[in-house]
Amino acid sequence: MYKFVTSTVLSLFAASSFACQSDNIQLLNNFSNATSASLMQNCEIDESNNQINVKLLPENKPINNSPWYAFQLVSKEPRAVTLTLTVNDGDHRYLPKISRDGKNWQQVDYKIVEDKMHVELAIDTKTTWIAGQELITNKDYIDWGKKLSEFEFIDHNVIGSSVNGKPIYQVITNQPNVKQWLVVLGRQHPPEVTGAIALFPFVDTLLGNSELARYFRQNYNIVVVPNMNPDGVELGYWRHNANGVDLNRDWNKFKQPEVIAVDKLLTDLVAKGHKISMAVDFHSTHKDIFYTMPNDYGVQQRYLVNNWLNKLDKQYPEFNVIQKPGNNPQMGVFKQYVADKFDVHAITYEMGDNTDRKFIHKLAKDAANTLMQTMLKDNDQLR
Ligand SMILES: [Zn+2]
Repeated sequence: MYKFVTSTVLSLFAASSFACQSDNIQLLNNFSNATSASLMQNCEIDESNNQINVKLLPENKPINNSPWYAFQLVSKEPRAVTLTLTVNDGDHRYLPKISRDGKNWQQVDYKIVEDKMHVELAIDTKTTWIAGQELITNKDYIDWGKKLSEFEFIDHNVIGSSVNGKPIYQVITNQPNVKQWLVVLGRQHPPEVTGAIALFPFVDTLLGNSELARYFRQNYNIVVVPNMNPDGVELGYWRHNANGVDLNRDWNKFKQPEVIAVDKLLTDLVAKGHKISMAVDFHSTHKDIFYTMPNDYGVQQRYLVNNWLNKLDKQYPEFNVIQKPGNNPQMGVFKQYVADKFDVHAITYEMGDNTDRKFIHKLAKDAANTLMQTMLKDNDQLR
């Protein structure tokens, strides 16, 4: 339930719908990539105390606490306000960031007292965006894919639809004589934005014009599904799609259209005599970590991922490339599906929520280069 402190709609605000408002202040969450109304339980503005309270609800069933948020604030006149966020039965995982254009973001100071996060803000007639992480929208992915498809060797097209009918796109190299494939996946979990921040430079490096990348593409095609969960990205879901299902638990059930689309894509490639060689799935968690399949699991080229990540680790004396092997046949995660169905390695590439964004970029580029070197070396050994 929203609590409307006043029902007066001012001319400044007349064109918008909103989550809550007072005479002079309005909080909006009806823009693309905003916290869904269903995830914002309470929103109230006490204008006389310059106080704005927002309470975030758990995600739909099965319950996941949802510490992610995004909304906009507008005030009829410049004023200082205190925004107080409460997560229902959860922690404040995502530190607040603000933007004045929805594109450029900066961290803002906050204070956590007991279960409440307090943020001091100066707001005015121009929109102030507040979000748990930077916003990377469905449109950002489409713009990126379109731009890449200007290269003759890259196509950008639709492989399926989400529960709510949003297109799921692939970025794919189209070299019919190249039969080995590197697969890249992103955004199964919408607010895992640091994983998304890593995916772009990782793929740009694979598709780049370096001698290594050009030689790599003589041996491997690349298919990227950068945004697996466009409904969740649009609606601000935490781990679910629009059916309330965690996509990265559906790779053994294949009930969700997003997962079915990618499974079909890869299955069709194999049916045409092509080979899935390796897959990388981008996520975020509390720290930087690479979840791998154990090298004794029985997949081909058993040391490929060890060789890759050890090489990357050597390049970063100050940074520990943590490899965490795991084998969970019942969980329905993508990397397990790739190992079990295609008999090759896949990893879950996790960037920390608060890892420096410039470092994420640099690491992603180096990770792409070392992966290409490693896959080419193992490829040469196979011949
Ligand atoms: Zn995740």
